[in-house]
Amino acid sequence: MRVRYSYLPQQFADCDDLWRDLKAFVPTGDFTLGKPLAEFEERFAVLIGARHAIGVNSGTDALKLSLRALGVGAGDEVITAANTFVATVGAIAEVGATPVFVDCDDTFCMDVSQLEARITKRTKAIMPVHFTGYMTDMRAVMPIAERHKLPVVEDACQAILGAIAGRNAGTWGAAGAFSLHPLKNLNVWSDGGVIVTNDGEIAKQLRLQRNHGLADRDTVVLLGCNSRLDTIQAVVGNWLLPKTKAISDARIANAAFYDRELSKLRQIRIPPRPAGMRIVYHLYVVFAERRDELLKFCHAHGVEAKVHYPVPIYRQPALQRYGLKEGDFPVSDRHAKDVISFPCDQHLSPAEMQYVVDTVAAFYAESGR
Ligand SMILES: *Cc1c(COP(=O)(O)O)cnc(C)c1O
Repeated sequence: MRVRYSYLPQQFADCDDLWRDLKAFVPTGDFTLGKPLAEFEERFAVLIGARHAIGVNSGTDALKLSLRALGVGAGDEVITAANTFVATVGAIAEVGATPVFVDCDDTFCMDVSQLEARITKRTKAIMPVHFTGYMTDMRAVMPIAERHKLPVVEDACQAILGAIAGRNAGTWGAAGAFSLHPLKNLNVWSDGGVIVTNDGEIAKQLRLQRNHGLADRDTVVLLGCNSRLDTIQAVVGNWLLPKTKAISDARIANAAFYDRELSKLRQIRIPPRPAGMRIVYHLYVVFAERRDELLKFCHAHGVEAKVHYPVPIYRQPALQRYGLKEGDFPVSDRHAKDVISFPCDQHLSPAEMQYVVDTVAAFYAESGR
């Protein structure tokens, strides 16, 4: 059997109604800041439980423009997680700020007990990353941020409809950034991103920022950029958005199956699953003994397992200028050696997931340890 990682061929296999919507849309010529975009933004805000949603070009731009709208720029520091995807750090660098890292814990999110020690006079924002679909402990982040009067921008790109105590990812800080990239849980046919905020002033700034700073056709009130979410992608988003809850529920059920079955293997450790946290499993990650051998075995037997990531972002060549070295973030370093991700999406069949479990069990049985 082969268990593929990417489910994109299935995701849009059965969408005649979407093609119908697209066919109806194209003759309108309403391609930029069109009506379906406004509809998508309204529905996205309702879905997440935020007052405003602003569609932009990518999740990376959602982070970058949020920082800019909060006045973060050259010489400032932004605190984030040492194990995140490159986009978080790229967005911070793009506004001219310096990323300051905090190690993660075994939930793959920032270890908030280490956050306050990293705040300096130059800190201008905190950017927790809800990595893999877990959430950073926002109940601990927000009081620290408030005490130091620092805005929080949540990187919720991997955590749509993740929640703590019923409050969704993206609604805790001043702004929350989401990605609509094809590999994310709510995905369109291109790059795309959304920012949510409850602050009307920030929303207004963001709408200007993404559209050349144009207050109206003839008035430029700030120098922004062009980062509009394509209206045609909003048509795709409008089609998929009602399914977002079911998508995350399916992932949660799949993860529960894996947790139950894989926890029978002594060589696999399931990460902690904090009570009251809705983890949406953008990635399903466990800790594995002899990870590299297991990964090879999986690939040889048709299971497309992955590693997120073999080299933590803080140790990548492009970040050398920050003077960090291996060992600075020991938990991120350990994860790089022992994490493995298995396919966990809503299109997997029970037989495929059973095959993943059987393959992992066979590896440890055959290798006799
Ligand atoms: C995907 C992702 C982003 C950026 O999203 P793009 O839409 O690809 O620009 C940012 N942060 C994290 C953690 C992500 O996974």
